[in-house]
Amino acid sequence: MEEVIKNEVNRCLNCRNPRCVEACPLHVNIPQMINELKQGKIKEAFEVDNASNPFGLICGLVCPHEKQCQGACIRGIKDRPIEIGKIENYICNTYISKTSNDILSENKKSKVAIIGGGPAGLSCAYVLSKAGINSTIFERENFLGGILMYGIPDYRLDKENVKKNIGYLLNDKIEEKYNSDFSARKHEGKISIDKLKEDGYEYIFIAIGLNKNKGLDIPGIDNKNVIFASNYLRDYFENSQKRHGVTDKLDEEVLVVGGGNVAIDAARTANKLCKSSTIVYRRTREKMPANNIEIEEAIEEGVNFIFETNITKIDANGERILATLNDEKELECDKIILAIGNKIDKNDFDDFFEYDEYGLIKVDENNMTNHKNIYAGGDLTQNKNTVAFAIKSGINVANDIIKNINELHK
Ligand SMILES: Cc1cc2nc3c(=O)[nH]c(=O)nc-3n(C[C@H](O)[C@H](O)[C@H](O)COP(=O)(O)OP(=O)(O)OC[C@H]3O[C@@H](n4cnc5c(N)ncnc54)[C@H](O)[C@@H]3O)c2cc1C
Repeated sequence: MEEVIKNEVNRCLNCRNPRCVEACPLHVNIPQMINELKQGKIKEAFEVDNASNPFGLICGLVCPHEKQCQGACIRGIKDRPIEIGKIENYICNTYISKTSNDILSENKKSKVAIIGGGPAGLSCAYVLSKAGINSTIFERENFLGGILMYGIPDYRLDKENVKKNIGYLLNDKIEEKYNSDFSARKHEGKISIDKLKEDGYEYIFIAIGLNKNKGLDIPGIDNKNVIFASNYLRDYFENSQKRHGVTDKLDEEVLVVGGGNVAIDAARTANKLCKSSTIVYRRTREKMPANNIEIEEAIEEGVNFIFETNITKIDANGERILATLNDEKELECDKIILAIGNKIDKNDFDDFFEYDEYGLIKVDENNMTNHKNIYAGGDLTQNKNTVAFAIKSGINVANDIIKNINELHK
């Protein structure tokens, strides 16, 4: 075992009332996982984690640990908290690298359609498969992973890790259908609820994430050099798949509007690719929703910040743009990246579902929508927008489907 992991494992107090478990959205039994590792039992440690979290390899890297397990660690009161994320990542990486998933199937026809192969959809498929239930994932892209692949940049989440974790989850109880675009009501070339029902799917779980960008209602916003963070990061992902080695920096100055993790990811990416990048955020640093560790890394890398400022107008200035700020100051730049959030693309659903006060799909405690046996989850139903909460909803849906199927066959 690596020395740094060994030290962390030995620092764990194995608390009787572990606050870390309570603070983890998935309630992973962290002390037991650490205890197994302490005894050198990597398989058992992995199994403890995997019983609650199919994406341990990913969560170990990208969960906001400071706000969750590590933030609650009792060691953190007088000292520094145990680095639980690092331990989880070490266990999953070591175990998954050595093994493959061995769930066998009789290849029954699938009754469950899962729309969207991001963390929510994949977690649901995996938990169903462990209960012996086949499912089919309908995915718009020709790869799985959703934001884990095309959103979170590779310098924070290596795509080989994403593929490795997903590779472990897939088994022959899970069928994948790629290039399958979904829309709730019938539309040319898309799979719809009616079509899925006609094809014999009795349960449908929709987990297609938030497909629409939020904009700003200010003059000049339609300038061609104003773009959305999700598109910028997606381009970065696609280019990095093709890119080999280091590219030359563009001679561009970039402004990023927003204060969440997506804004930080866009600004750090722009900083790597361009001459400079500056975040413009309407509130103070303390009020930034982004994780502190991400903000600190951005500062270290040279990203600039302007706080308590809004852009009120955008003017073209030859090939460049001039952004007017709320204090009437002007900033010249080459590109503005908007990172002020995403929302449900209601075109995907027409008026099929009911929505809550946040504009998310309304679901009950089992993630069922206002239509029987049609579920929704992940970012579509929760405004926490984290990988762990997406996983949690996928598991929740799987457990409800398992319960319903078992009751029918009693
Ligand atoms: C840039 C960025 C950085 C982030 N960083 C973090 C982080 O560090 N830590 C953290 O915990 N969370 C982070 N998040 C949030 C996290 O990634 C999401 O909460 C999580 O991915 C949501 O999972 P999901 O399965 O609901 O949706 P998604 O990950 O969005 O997956 C949806 C899937 O559905 C597919 N799909 C979309 N539309 C259709 C359609 N019409 N038909 C068929 N398939 C479709 C997509 O291709 C995709 O595979 C970040 C988000 C972004 C955007």
